[in-house]
Amino acid sequence: MAKAIRPIAAKRMESLPPYLFARISQARDRMRKEGVDVIDLGIGDPDLPTPSFIVQAMKRAVEDPAHHHYPTYEGMPALREAVARWYQKRFQVDLDPEREVLVLIGSKEGLAHLPIALVNPGDVTLVPSPGYPVYGVSTLMAGGEPYFMPLLKENRFLPRLNDIPAPVAEKAKIMFLNYPNNPTAATADAPFFEGVVEFASRWNTVVCHDAAYSEIAFDGYRPMSFLQADGGKDVGIEIHSLSKTCNMTGWRVGFAVGNRDVIDGLRRVKSNIDSGVFQAIQIAAIEALENYETHHSDTLGIYQRRRDLLAEGLREAGLEVQSCAATFYLWITVPKGFTSVEFATLLLSKTGIVLTPGNGFGEWGEGYIRAAFTRDENQIREAVRRLRQTTF
Ligand code: PLP
Repeated sequence: MAKAIRPIAAKRMESLPPYLFARISQARDRMRKEGVDVIDLGIGDPDLPTPSFIVQAMKRAVEDPAHHHYPTYEGMPALREAVARWYQKRFQVDLDPEREVLVLIGSKEGLAHLPIALVNPGDVTLVPSPGYPVYGVSTLMAGGEPYFMPLLKENRFLPRLNDIPAPVAEKAKIMFLNYPNNPTAATADAPFFEGVVEFASRWNTVVCHDAAYSEIAFDGYRPMSFLQADGGKDVGIEIHSLSKTCNMTGWRVGFAVGNRDVIDGLRRVKSNIDSGVFQAIQIAAIEALENYETHHSDTLGIYQRRRDLLAEGLREAGLEVQSCAATFYLWITVPKGFTSVEFATLLLSKTGIVLTPGNGFGEWGEGYIRAAFTRDENQIREAVRRLRQTTF
């Protein structure tokens, strides 16, 4: 019998951050085993099903043998054209479907591969903290160094571009941004994006704006696209996903749009690594983009009711909650005397409610916890009932 090998992990694996949610997840699983009715508000995955017209489109497409082959690397022309039409209708931005649109296996995939196209060892990327962890990790995987831009309450959770030291800006190949923002629920406006364009063209930095939550917004607010900013397409790309817009997290389909040189770099990386998105999913994605608005106001109404209930319950429990005009997250200040993890642990043990410690999103998330209203109204009401009975 051959001697079993002992795989020796690559050095770069050491740069991966530890799994900070492990302690909370273990406590949650232990309580569930003990029979506690745990309400998990830690998950950024919509509980609502994919609308049935999208599922039906997929069912029809999957029967067609024409879709059973390798897809094209950059996505079906019909889907790239649908993306361009959607961008024009939604944001009044013109895109060339040939060269300015690229289909992704979910937005996470595009975010993870972008630094491979742009970052050399020793280069820097500008990464929001707190933020979606993939920006920093993908930078490390490419041999680069993330420079964390603090998102602070006193600055409406927008990075202060003037605070980025010149020697860092000089080495910055990519600036990652994400508005509406996970985890803070902050939003960005035109003057901010115009400042970003100015910064990027001054330092020759590619902007990658992650717009995964652009369609999850309330009270009539409609988030803008980074490409609507004057010069946006000259300096960057925007990444979208159908995951949150159409409750399609499991389907794995998104798209990158914007600057054709950046899109081409990402396309070249991807064509050497993956073989695209199953065509039946792409057909369903076309249907989703063309018709999602018919069901969307119902979805937003559901989220908005949950947001109002949960925010009110948290405030009644004496907690400070940031305003939330978009995303399905509430960003909550941890009371004095606790770290994020300590408070999330205490909350879980006292109420059986799981929230995510803010430091899991980066150093500048310490002092906060995140609640996702991705559970149904009954569970949110029960969570609020428990919160009302609790003092911290
Ligand atoms: N970007 C942000 C800010 C997210 O929060 C998420 C998922 O939670 C993603 C990207 C990844 O989404 P997708 O399902 O499109 O890969």
